[in-house]
Amino acid sequence: MKPNANPSLPSLYTDLGISPEVLALGDRILSGLQERFAAIDATAEYNQLKVLKAMQENQVSEACLLGTTGYGYNDLGRDTLEAVYASVFHTEDALVRPQITCGTHALSLALMSNLRPGDELLSHVGKPYDTLEEVIGIRPSKGSLREYGVSYRQVDLRADGSFDYAAIQKAVNEKTRLVTIQRSKGYQTRPTLSVERIGELIAFIKDIKPDVICMVDNCYGEFVETIEPSDVGADMVVGSLIKNPGGGLAPIGGYIAGRRECVENAAFRLTSPGLGKEVGASLGVLPSFYQGLFLAPNVTASALKGAVFAANIYERLGYPVVPDASESRHDIIQAVTFGDPEGVVAFCEGIQAAAPVDSHVTPEPWDMPGYDAKVIMAAGAFVSGSSIELSADGPIKPPYAVYFQGGLTWHHAKFGILRSLQSLTDRGIVTREQIEGICR
Ligand SMILES: *Cc1c(COP(=O)(O)O)cnc(C)c1O
Repeated sequence: MKPNANPSLPSLYTDLGISPEVLALGDRILSGLQERFAAIDATAEYNQLKVLKAMQENQVSEACLLGTTGYGYNDLGRDTLEAVYASVFHTEDALVRPQITCGTHALSLALMSNLRPGDELLSHVGKPYDTLEEVIGIRPSKGSLREYGVSYRQVDLRADGSFDYAAIQKAVNEKTRLVTIQRSKGYQTRPTLSVERIGELIAFIKDIKPDVICMVDNCYGEFVETIEPSDVGADMVVGSLIKNPGGGLAPIGGYIAGRRECVENAAFRLTSPGLGKEVGASLGVLPSFYQGLFLAPNVTASALKGAVFAANIYERLGYPVVPDASESRHDIIQAVTFGDPEGVVAFCEGIQAAAPVDSHVTPEPWDMPGYDAKVIMAAGAFVSGSSIELSADGPIKPPYAVYFQGGLTWHHAKFGILRSLQSLTDRGIVTREQIEGICR
């Protein structure tokens, strides 16, 4: 055996580029987080049992893992998985497909299939996620809702993040057919909505107009709490399988869970009128969809612990963080504002250097389609672009914030955050004195 084949844990951290000071700072911060972590574990335990119960009740069997080709008629595994999703979200039905290519596609599908010419779409939590601007037609695009004669109205949150109920009341009119509610802040700095607040909003809307369809963009929110928006009145919840519910294993896919009629509309649009859910071969992806969903509560907990850890480290170092170090969590995204481009770049380089895949490459800011500034992205993921895996990105423009999320295991998330801090320290952006000051 080679002399140093089994180094101690601290020297393994050293081997992987983490200095003793940075490691000590991490341990110091962690010692104050035990209660937070216990609460995250309790949520994961609840959600693990919820998912297990759904799988047992729907009699997931070995045959469900096989999959089909061609038309995909009578795909037992696909149909059972959709029943499992419906059980997890407590909805009448669900559409869970590899043919739904991403989160934007799932949302676009839910909107386009449930709105008709002359209808109006309303968002009363401000501007929706960037990629939805073209779906809606806020930014002109081929095939947008706007081209099909669906109008859009928006009510912003008030400056303190609360709902502008008076303005919402005024905005609901005879054309209002569907209300879209984005749970996660996405890449904005407003607070993420708790499921409870989403419930209050839905109740208010339904009070004004009972037949309005309330759709929730659930991206990054699944399994963060013990209840989901569908438990508080949402007619549809929509998300991506390369975020929380895919558990890191799903290689593609999206879901829509909700009222039977809403899901059926979506299925008819995804495949074809008349065919709906009956076609759509699952090919070979079902084992990863099932196993990913099974792991999702714990994977989400790992990502959440990483987010809480990062918030506490960077807040102690004096950087503004959203959510802050002690706030309750409703999604897995953590924003850290560095105030200058060097901090953003150093942070992302650290996350990249911590990856299991492509750790040797250096991310650089580039002109990404759809964005008005250069963006730097760090992602060394098993599934390309997966953001339930440890990842970070930052637009190179004021206030120079990075958005950080994911981590398939807590220990990898921890390592990634330490590595980001190491990168900032190596460049002198965070000083040794600052670190020692905290540890003292
Ligand atoms: C990620 C995300 C989307 C879009 O999902 P993609 O898979 O990137 O297309 C939409 N809304 C929110 C809040 C998201 O976080």
